[in-house]
Amino acid sequence: MAKPPGTLEQLRDRFGPHLNYTPEGGWSKEARTRPDRLVKTHCCFCGQQCGIQLKVRDNHVIGFEPWEDFPFNRGMLCPKGVKRYLQSNHPDRLLDPLLRTDSGFVKASWDEAMSFTARRLREVQERYGKDAVAVFGGASLTTEKAYLMGKFARVGLGTRHVDYNGRLCMVSAGVAYKLAFDVDRSPIPWSEIPKANVIFAIGANVGECAPITTDYIWRCRDNGGKLIVADPRITPISRNADLFLPLRPGTDLALLSGMMHVVLRDNLQDDSFIEQHTTGFEAVKASVACFDPRTTAEMTGVPAEAIEKAAHMFAKADRAIAMHARGLEHQSKGVENCSALINLTLATGHFGREGCGCTMITGQGNGQGGREHGQKCDQLPGQRSLLDPKAREHVARVWGIQPDELPQPGYSAQEIMNAIHAGEIKALFSICFNPAVSLPNADFTREALEKLEFFAVTDFFLSETARYADVVLAGSLQEEEEGVTCSAEGRVIHIQRAVDPPANARRDSEIVCDLARRLGRGQYFPFHTPREIFDELREASRGGHADYYGITYEKIDAQMGVFWPCPTLEHPGTPNLMPGGVSFYPDGKCRFQATEWRESGDPVDETFPTYLTTGRVVSQYLSGAQTRRIGGLVDIYPEPRVEIHPRLAEHKNIADKDWVTVTTRRSEVTLQAMVVRTIRPDTVFIPYHWADKKSANLLTHRTIDPRSKIPEFKVSACSIRKADGAPSWAADRQLVTIGSPERKQGDTN
Ligand code: SF4
Repeated sequence: MAKPPGTLEQLRDRFGPHLNYTPEGGWSKEARTRPDRLVKTHCCFCGQQCGIQLKVRDNHVIGFEPWEDFPFNRGMLCPKGVKRYLQSNHPDRLLDPLLRTDSGFVKASWDEAMSFTARRLREVQERYGKDAVAVFGGASLTTEKAYLMGKFARVGLGTRHVDYNGRLCMVSAGVAYKLAFDVDRSPIPWSEIPKANVIFAIGANVGECAPITTDYIWRCRDNGGKLIVADPRITPISRNADLFLPLRPGTDLALLSGMMHVVLRDNLQDDSFIEQHTTGFEAVKASVACFDPRTTAEMTGVPAEAIEKAAHMFAKADRAIAMHARGLEHQSKGVENCSALINLTLATGHFGREGCGCTMITGQGNGQGGREHGQKCDQLPGQRSLLDPKAREHVARVWGIQPDELPQPGYSAQEIMNAIHAGEIKALFSICFNPAVSLPNADFTREALEKLEFFAVTDFFLSETARYADVVLAGSLQEEEEGVTCSAEGRVIHIQRAVDPPANARRDSEIVCDLARRLGRGQYFPFHTPREIFDELREASRGGHADYYGITYEKIDAQMGVFWPCPTLEHPGTPNLMPGGVSFYPDGKCRFQATEWRESGDPVDETFPTYLTTGRVVSQYLSGAQTRRIGGLVDIYPEPRVEIHPRLAEHKNIADKDWVTVTTRRSEVTLQAMVVRTIRPDTVFIPYHWADKKSANLLTHRTIDPRSKIPEFKVSACSIRKADGAPSWAADRQLVTIGSPERKQGDTN
């Protein structure tokens, strides 16, 4: 039963988050001495994976230079990329393994920490069975590490329960694309975007969450293209949209069904494409019959004329691309939402041609690569199914085990947390995953973490989750271990090792292989370098849809990335995944998916009449474990605030910067108001990057999509009221106005 060893203040004093503003040695040293070398690699944050050159001196990353030649971002970076080097020499960095004691975390030797971890994992499994231990991986890990986590769970521990934080990102898209095309990757590279005549972005705050993609949209606009945006908030790209559809949270499926209804009513579908390249269209026709514009307008809050106009603009365009992100996917009907958008793209024939397609904008750094090679609870390398006997045979042969030694599919991330809470899972081994901040219903997550009989964390900062750990294994930053990731476009890129882990920190892959050895499974983990892991991954993925066999580090460097599938060493890779509209199904046809409307898992009512939706701000990244430690980023947006429309604010007697209490069926949070005209009057928005009493996920609910298992972060029912005063956490912080840097190095966030 693991309570954090110490008060929140004690833990924060020692482990942060503290703010770092300067490179190693300070700015004067930076000005006096030149770097030893520049290392061409990639930003560690979002799924764009922009090329960047890290400046390295004396085994420290001290700054960056643009990498102008890298074709995706051509030297451009967003605020996070510009400041990412400040995590490298951070004062909060974990430099030794830690063991939890009654008097707090104490430093331990690696031998002590690893022996303890192996012993406790063994004890739990001997007492309760193999599946009493679960493994959490991460979508910020290189693909080699993600592959290793899947193998470690199934071969090292023999548990069926392994999943990852990408489960909170875009798995709804993954399921929908698998259903439609039998493959989970963006069908097109981003170079297609400027060629479209119409872009339809739905549930995608592109400007803040995928900033460099904005440049591709602007290039489309420069070429005369039109932009349609659907979102409950007027996000930055919406301000330049030709048509903005301000839909009610959770009604995307209705909007897309309404647009399809208009397409069919006005005979705008592409019958020839449907006939030649698809199956299942009749069922879709029937499923949208009741979504006439007036009904759709009532459900979505979008005027009927705007729905009709959007349908006509999209369908009549010669070339059109639909783009979506978490707004569409973070719902308990996330798969249906994505399927409805794919249906619209297929029905209008905007698929498999130049400047056409539909695409998911991956959020997490290696959100794409992290979901390709067996880190998911139902998956084997190469995007193979754990239920497929042939796939089991192939992977078992590569791993040197019998197919029946491979466990069956296990629980997804939220289901693992539910099973911990229920006492079914007793121990957890987790790497670079911060569920205390990122899972919904944070009080429930905290209770679950407290129930664990053993909890081991590998990370480079002491995240809010790691506070509950029995042992913390000091792991590595992205720039400390070579590997590959796969960007949002499907481009496999090379992460270069720029520096070694400092002090006693270790590379993540060494930690996992060491643990496997101590569990008596070392013969299956003989790796000394990431390259050796990658070579095994290439074989394991061979013949799968995500076939990496023909990809090598050298080929990536020579081509500035290789798009998978790449089945042979001579193969150049596959930027356009399905040219001619030929899917990955044996018959080459794309599958329409009929959808069925259902309400959110947390519906609004008289007590909770307002929609709460959550998301990101440009200066922060996911649970904030890294970006809440970087001074220049925290200064841009220091605290979470509640966005409220002036009409709702006036109704509740709330002024800008007033303290506001937001209450849901789970909990309540008090934050400052940000009164803005850029949100629907029936909706409030809170960014989710903060922890403890500032956590938006105290408010969200645990309803998951039945197929993708993604939680419904984008739709909760809430009520708001002006608070009696500032919350307790506000007393120990300096009130900083957004945009005015008044903090000093080392201040806590
Ligand atoms: S956070 Fe994303 S968009 Fe920003 S620099 Fe990094 S990879 Fe590029």
